[in-house]
Amino acid sequence: MLVISGPSGCGKSSICRELLRDPRVVFSISATTRKPRAGEVDGVDYTFLTREEFGERAKRGEFIEYAEVHDNMYGTLRQPMEDALASGDVYLVEIDVQGALQLKGLGTPGTYVFVAPPDFETLRQRLVGRGTDPPEVIERRLKKASDEYEERDKYDHIVVNDQLSKTVSSVRELIGLDPVPGEYSE
Ligand code: 5GP
Repeated sequence: MLVISGPSGCGKSSICRELLRDPRVVFSISATTRKPRAGEVDGVDYTFLTREEFGERAKRGEFIEYAEVHDNMYGTLRQPMEDALASGDVYLVEIDVQGALQLKGLGTPGTYVFVAPPDFETLRQRLVGRGTDPPEVIERRLKKASDEYEERDKYDHIVVNDQLSKTVSSVRELIGLDPVPGEYSE
């Protein structure tokens, strides 16, 4: 299991997108109660659930971890993770800091990577540039990001995401995937 975690806006999704070009890497499709964004597909990007559905599945023990992130619930489903790990694939889990620390606390074996922004001004610009959140939400995310940054030493590795291709290469190296020359583009 490869856990890619860290504050919102640090480029976790872009890193995951690049890592997923490798057929040995399988994405953990989380469940969430947030509404799909434009272009997101149910069962591909996330399994989109209502609060009630999420609560029922949590009660049934279907999540290995779950957390409330920015007013929505997010959870990692236990069964697909167990299936993927049994098949020997790299199971790529992209989750927030609370979720990653829950998994680590449970002793779930894996490589835990904290993705840090080059600096907080760059993070602000990324969140603004993404265009998905109003200013007050961006301020909340920045405050949360600086709290989450304090947790970075609890991870196995910290990568500063200042250049996507370099970050992806170092993550691949961490988990022992051979370099694929020229495969990655910014
Ligand atoms: P977004 O709504 O932007 O897709 O994701 C918001 C945050 O929720 C991101 O930090 C993302 O990594 C995190 N997240 C996505 N899936 C999960 C999950 O299954 N569990 C937890 N704890 N966090 C998740």
